[in-house]
Amino acid sequence: MKLSFLNTMSRQLEEFRPIDDKNIRMYTCGPTVYNYAHIGNFRAYIFEDLLRRVIKLNGYNLTHTMNLTDVDDKTIRDSQSASMSLNDFTAIYKKAFFDDIDTLNIERAEHYPAATDYIQEMINMIQILVDKGIAYQAEDNSVYYSINKFEDYGKLAKIDRDNQRAGVRIKADEYEKESVSDFALWKSYSQADGDVKWDSPWGPGRPGWHIECSAMSKATLGDHFDIHTGGIDNMFPHHEDEIAQSEASNGCKYVNYWMHCAHLQVNGKKMSKSLGNFHTINELTEHGYCGEEIRWVLIATHYRVGLNFEIDSSTLESKSLQEAKTAISRINNFIERVNDKAGDSSSEEISALCQSSKDKFLHGLNDDLNIAEGLAAMFEFIRAVNKALDDNADVSKEEVIDTMKYFNTILDVMTFEKKDDIPKEIIDLAHERIQARKDKDWGRADEIRDEITAKGYVVEDSPEGPKVKRV
Ligand code: AMP
Ligand code: ZN
Repeated sequence: MKLSFLNTMSRQLEEFRPIDDKNIRMYTCGPTVYNYAHIGNFRAYIFEDLLRRVIKLNGYNLTHTMNLTDVDDKTIRDSQSASMSLNDFTAIYKKAFFDDIDTLNIERAEHYPAATDYIQEMINMIQILVDKGIAYQAEDNSVYYSINKFEDYGKLAKIDRDNQRAGVRIKADEYEKESVSDFALWKSYSQADGDVKWDSPWGPGRPGWHIECSAMSKATLGDHFDIHTGGIDNMFPHHEDEIAQSEASNGCKYVNYWMHCAHLQVNGKKMSKSLGNFHTINELTEHGYCGEEIRWVLIATHYRVGLNFEIDSSTLESKSLQEAKTAISRINNFIERVNDKAGDSSSEEISALCQSSKDKFLHGLNDDLNIAEGLAAMFEFIRAVNKALDDNADVSKEEVIDTMKYFNTILDVMTFEKKDDIPKEIIDLAHERIQARKDKDWGRADEIRDEITAKGYVVEDSPEGPKVKRV
C-alpha cells in the first residue's frame, strides 16, 4: 500500500521511497537531559513512535536512532546549579526518560547514543570542515561554521540569503531566525563550564549542540539516510545547521524526508520549561491518570496540527484526559463484550469487515499518519460488530480480537486480558491444591503452590479459603 509523508523540505506530500528496499533508517532528536521531560516533549516522541510503528506495519525493517543530549548549554548550567557532576546530573534524567517512555508504551529505538560518548566523532567532523575551509577558528578560540561557504544554507527553514549575516558569530545553541549567522561547532573552554571540557586540536572545550546530531547520526546510520524527525522548533536553527554540517563534511545529501510535529499547547500556550506551564508524566500518573490515557491524548490528534491540552494546572482536572479515558473504556468494554459473547466462526460479512477495517486503518495512517481516518475505521468497526452481536449474528471471537490487536500494534492502549482474570490453568491448579490439602497430601500441595508461583501467581490462604492473585 502506498505510504506518503509531508516532507518539510519540499512542504509537499511525497510518496515514501526508501533508499534501501527493505531497511529504513531514521533519526530523531531526543531529549536534552537537564530536567524531566514534559508532555510537550512526549508529543514529539509519541509522533515518532507512531511513525516507527506505521513504517514497521508496512513490512519494513527499521533502524531508529534517538540521541540523548547530555552536554550543552542547559545541562552544564543546571548541573552546576545543582552542584553535581555533569554525568551524575544527566544520569537522573536519562533514567527518568526511559521510565516515562515505558509508561507511555513508546517502543524503544534501536540506538540511544549519548553525546558525551561521541566527542571524538564530533571532533573528526569539525576537522573535515576546517580542512575544507568551511569552518574556522575565531579569536575566542571557538570554531565556527561559515554559512556563506554552504550555498544551500537556509534550504530547510527557507531563509533568504539576503537575511544571512555571514561573518557575524553566534555561540549560543539556540537562536532565532533573525540571528542567522556563523554558528559554533566547538566552544572553547570558559570558566563557566566548570570541569566540563575535552581536548581538541583547537584547545580544550566542548561541542556545539548541532554538531552532536550530525556526528551521532553518521555514526549510527551513515552519511545519508531516509527520515529525520523532531518538533517544529528543531527545524531552525538545529536541523538547518545539521544539514550544513553533514552535507558539507560528508559530500552527499544528508536526509531524504524531514518530518516535524506541531507543538503541544497547554490552555493555548506552547508547553515549555521556560514558560513554566509544563506537566511531567510522573505528575499526571501520581494524580491517577494512566500511561494509556496520556498516550491517547498525544496520539489522537494529527501530528502537524497544534494540540491543545486542556488541564487545570492547580487541580490537574483535565478534559483531554477525561475524554481519553472514555475512549479507551469504550474500546476495552467492546473487547470484553466480544470475549463474552462472540463465538467460533464469522459470517462472510463479518470476515470481510475485519479485513476492510484493517485496510482502511492502514490506508489512513499511510496518508501522512492520518490518525483521524485510522480511528474512524476502528470505531466504525466496533459499531458494526456491536450491532452484529446485538443481532446474534455469527461473529468469530478470534477474528475480531485479531483485528483489534492489529489496531493495537499502532495504538497500544488496549487491554485484552482483564487484569484480575486468572487463567483457567491456574484456577485448575488451585483446585487441585485444595484437594491435595483435603487429602492431607502436603508434599503435593506445596509442589502445586511452587508451580503456581513459577507461573507468576501467588496463593494466599485466607479465612474464606485460598485466593490466587497475580504477583
Ligand atoms: P528538548 O529536550 O527541549 O531538546 O526537546 C526534545 C523534543 O521535544 C524536541 O523534538 C522538541 O521539538 C520537542 N518539544 C519541545 N516542546 C514541545 C511542545 N510543546 N510540543 C511538541 N514538541 C515539543
Ligand atoms: Zn538533534
